[in-house]
Amino acid sequence: MRRPIVAGNWKMHGSRGENARLIEDILGGYPAHAGAECVVCPPFVYLQEVRRMLRDSPIALGAQDTCAEAHGAFTGEVSAGMLKDIGCKYVLAGHSERRLIYRESDQLIARKFAAAHAKGLVPVLCVGEQLSDREASRTEEVIGRQLDVVLELCGPEVLGQGVVAYEPVWAIGTGRNATPQQAQDVHAFIRARIAARDARIAADTRILYGGSVKAGNAAELFAMPDVDGGLIGGASLKADEFLAILAAAGPG
Ligand code: PEP
Repeated sequence: MRRPIVAGNWKMHGSRGENARLIEDILGGYPAHAGAECVVCPPFVYLQEVRRMLRDSPIALGAQDTCAEAHGAFTGEVSAGMLKDIGCKYVLAGHSERRLIYRESDQLIARKFAAAHAKGLVPVLCVGEQLSDREASRTEEVIGRQLDVVLELCGPEVLGQGVVAYEPVWAIGTGRNATPQQAQDVHAFIRARIAARDARIAADTRILYGGSVKAGNAAELFAMPDVDGGLIGGASLKADEFLAILAAAGPG
């Protein structure tokens, strides 16, 4: 059984006051029995304070990125060990904004994934094609390459202890989500790619969909057989939307 995950990626949004109101509203409306595991990923600087607000709640804490190095002279970076130390459970690796804006390579992202796993975090490997890739029928080629680099470095066992998030770049923050069938096709491809190395691990690996998920489209996306929840950007900043998406991932 793959328990779904609904994870909110706050990106570079929020303030101490806004975060407190958001968490209060989420906790105020939180279901007694959520079917999905719920995660919030605030900016680094707010992680500890959000963790304090989440204490005794079932919501897990995640970070949006990590350094691939364990420690040392890497000014401005935050290591996986530090994230673990302050109570993070999850960390994103290779969000498309990191890949595209900060030019992170597949190799660097694989090293981040490995570093996070080594420190006991659950890394969430984000993969996704750009619109030009999809239009040139290169979606599987791109996703396959992004996955293979992690599979080569870490092996299927370690990948399966993490999470994969399929986020088509053309659907992120655009209001244009993949159709449920488009999402399912790529999720099935990802699962098959892992299964080529280890079928048992592939069957157990959670694969999230991300890209303009909202209360209005979450249920149909989450109903697809290989979609195990979602990575939510914009809609995770509104408590009622986020709670509705959580509910769409199933009752407890
Ligand atoms: C994201 O940033 O991971 C994301 C999916 O954003 P949005 O939901 O806003 O498209």
